[in-house]
Amino acid sequence: MKKITILGSTGSIGISTLSVIKKNPNLFKVIALVANTNIATMLEQCELFSPDWVAMGDEKSANILRKKLKRRKIKTQVLSGEKDICKLASLKETDQVISAIIGIAGLLPTLSAIKAGKTILLANKESLITCGYLFMKALALSGAKIFPIDSEHNAIFQVLPIEMQKNLGVSSLKQNSIKHIVLTGSGGPFYKLSSSDLSNVTPVQACSHPNWLMGKKISVDSATMMNKGLEYVEARWLFNASESEIKILIHPESVIHSMVQYCDGSLLAQLSIPDIRISISYAMSWPNRIYSGAKYLDFYAINNLSFFEPNFIQFPCLKLAIDSFAQGQSSMIVLNAVNEIAVSAFLDSRISFTKIYEINFEILMSSCFSEPNCIEDILEIDRKARILAKNKISSLVF
Ligand code: NDP
Repeated sequence: MKKITILGSTGSIGISTLSVIKKNPNLFKVIALVANTNIATMLEQCELFSPDWVAMGDEKSANILRKKLKRRKIKTQVLSGEKDICKLASLKETDQVISAIIGIAGLLPTLSAIKAGKTILLANKESLITCGYLFMKALALSGAKIFPIDSEHNAIFQVLPIEMQKNLGVSSLKQNSIKHIVLTGSGGPFYKLSSSDLSNVTPVQACSHPNWLMGKKISVDSATMMNKGLEYVEARWLFNASESEIKILIHPESVIHSMVQYCDGSLLAQLSIPDIRISISYAMSWPNRIYSGAKYLDFYAINNLSFFEPNFIQFPCLKLAIDSFAQGQSSMIVLNAVNEIAVSAFLDSRISFTKIYEINFEILMSSCFSEPNCIEDILEIDRKARILAKNKISSLVF
């Protein structure tokens, strides 16, 4: 039985992971759960899965949860704060750590799991985006294993040769007869809108993804297509890919979740209905497969599969992420931080949808940071970029 810790258990990925565990109770045991403030969902999860440990990022929420658990005679120990979350990420008894905290808050816990040599199922793309080189170096040093959960990266992973699966981020695509990777994307809810229509879209519309049910932040990133840009960066690191080895393809139906073009002309793809439990269950059970709870694809019900080139003018965030990666790690840290602040301001209806790109672009152009050498440097650049973004938004709003 594999012992599991879920970082971000109350979020969209965390809930899907628990759904897979519920369907396979003989294969997995929940050891620890981590969230921030969502007491109600965490309480329910403790009742259902009886973890030994829980940590809430927010101390007040941890105190309330502790009392509620005691009243219900549930024996789970409750911790709080980032240090305790890092402790749970590196627990001796855990086999697999699901890294699904949203945003930069996932960085230190994920690194803690890596340093402890755990098997990490990575959803938190921000840790790889902000910390790429150091992240991969820490993986190599500790011998920790990594499995991508993001559906596109998981799809690519599924059709890679086994030796590449075992050596993610290190093996060469070329030496494994791979010409390039095709990273697909639906184009998000606004794919068919013109650039001028985009300025009036609302947070509710932006969070209504046509194919995937996800958390609010990643849903907005999908709508701006920043998410595809961040996934491009994630793929560069995970698959040790050069710029020319990744192509982006818009595929609105989200049936093909990404592909690998081999040198002989064969193109291997992973297809399924869009249900993240397929990626999660594959990562949890690799190299075997288990029941995920997802429905099977019905080819008779698919009318059409369509493919388009990405439109960088309509979705400039995609190009911005690709260019920022080429600029260097500090640009990626700034972009990630500013984007988190701008998306949050959009979700609070403080700025319009199109301002997300403008704020990202302006701060990237006007700021200059040295390349980071350690985690402290990364966190400092992140902190300063957030201040710049907040000041910029305040100057726009007031
Ligand atoms: P959600 O917003 O749905 O969930 C975020 C989770 O992180 C919640 O459990 C939240 O707790 C927790 N959290 C937030 N801040 C903290 C903190 N400071 N300390 C501890 N826990 C914290 O996000 P998603 O599940 O959508 O996404 C999670 C990650 O997975 C993101 O990096 C995203 O890019 C990536 N991803 C998501 C996909 C999806 O289908 N949703 C697909 C591919 C990647 P609380 O509920 O208490 O706030």
